[in-house]
Amino acid sequence: MSCLQEQLAAIRGRTDVAPEARPPRPVDLSRLANAVREMLDALGEDPEREGLRDTPERVARSYTEILSGLLEDPAEHLGRTFENHSRDLVTLSDIEFTSLCEHHLLPVIGTAHIAYLPSHGRVVGLSKLARTVDVFARRPQLQERMTAQIADAIVEHLDPLGVLVLVEARHLCLSMRGAKKRASAMRTVASRGLFEKDTARERQVLALLGSGDPDRHS
Ligand SMILES: [Zn+2]
Repeated sequence: MSCLQEQLAAIRGRTDVAPEARPPRPVDLSRLANAVREMLDALGEDPEREGLRDTPERVARSYTEILSGLLEDPAEHLGRTFENHSRDLVTLSDIEFTSLCEHHLLPVIGTAHIAYLPSHGRVVGLSKLARTVDVFARRPQLQERMTAQIADAIVEHLDPLGVLVLVEARHLCLSMRGAKKRASAMRTVASRGLFEKDTARERQVLALLGSGDPDRHS
């Protein structure tokens, strides 16, 4: 078994983490700024000193942007399909994203790679796939859940013959705290439809998406 196969086997069982359904609600900026002020104070800092005076409002606005996916629905992007009767594989590699791990609220920096086999003559613009990654990345996330959510959203809106989503990311919570290791990229894969059933085909597409070199992002 290759290194990649071992990694895939290890993560396969963890991709079906159910997202919590909760209706989105608008960000309360002043409450968020107060919480940041409180956090600085609890850390022993002086939130009123010159350098920190505007920080709570600035952080509140930054978090609103970083977590904007909480207020977005992937249907806004994936709902805009167009007709194309090709049944050939469509791939989009190296979609850069940033996210926040939901356990530490520290950055996750990575790339997503998507492949799907269209059916019913419906495809979607490549930029819509990239925006779909952002909808799910810009939330407090688990990489496993995000990978599954992207795949499931494509299934829901395009009903393709198969979808494969590969996500490779570095979690700064691993390098900034705890083990303080400059961790190698964590990989998660979600396969749906044909790729889920046909592992040989799945491996072929994974290789096509550029996952053959484990040191690519190191
Ligand atoms: Zn974390």
